[in-house]
Amino acid sequence: MPTPTAKPLYRVRRSPIHGTGVFATRRIPKGRRVIEYIGERISHAEADRRYENKAHDDNHTFLFTVNNRVVIDGGNIGNEARWINHSCDPNCESLIDDNRVFIEAIRTIQPGEELSYDYMIERDRSDPPDIDVIFACRCGAKNCRGTMLLPPKKKKKKAKVKAKAKAKATSKSGAKSKAALSRTKSAKTKSAKTKSAKTKSSAAKGAKAKGPTLKAKAPRGTRPAR
Ligand SMILES: [Zn+2]
Repeated sequence: MPTPTAKPLYRVRRSPIHGTGVFATRRIPKGRRVIEYIGERISHAEADRRYENKAHDDNHTFLFTVNNRVVIDGGNIGNEARWINHSCDPNCESLIDDNRVFIEAIRTIQPGEELSYDYMIERDRSDPPDIDVIFACRCGAKNCRGTMLLPPKKKKKKAKVKAKAKAKATSKSGAKSKAALSRTKSAKTKSAKTKSAKTKSSAAKGAKAKGPTLKAKAPRGTRPAR
């Protein structure tokens, strides 16, 4: 039977994980794009400026990094996507497709289940010592890393031949870290993998890779940051 499009896939209500959450109202099949992460498209500098005065212990972040230039501020002209909580064992993932951010189911989700994805928040040198306390994760997953932030980046050791060979095999990782490290930001942002619209199935298969994989391609269709 075809699924009626009138009934929404999700609804927003209080979450046992954190504050407000988004819950499936019906079965969502794996691979389904649930929602686009909407908000005002601004520069990283503007994001920093907007959120520099927020309370030290405020762990809300409505900011989503699209690329080195653009951040989506879901706190301004945003939609329900901004309420989807982080989980270390999520049922969704965030993907960047043509400079737009989408939340997609990575497994079949049953009605009533809370939607979640890994925020993959990066660390900065300017982070306060208690950053993992501020961004503590209460997802309750067995593999919960206790924080919404990504694990600290390990320094590359050239001496390790094994690692070198591995890096060669996955050539994209080098470009990724370079892009990610090319700027320091103070406002905490969610991040995602970049997904090309043309290689949907192959990209979905390779979706296990951790961390933001910002492809070094020229952004298209990006509205100028205000
Ligand atoms: Zn967790």
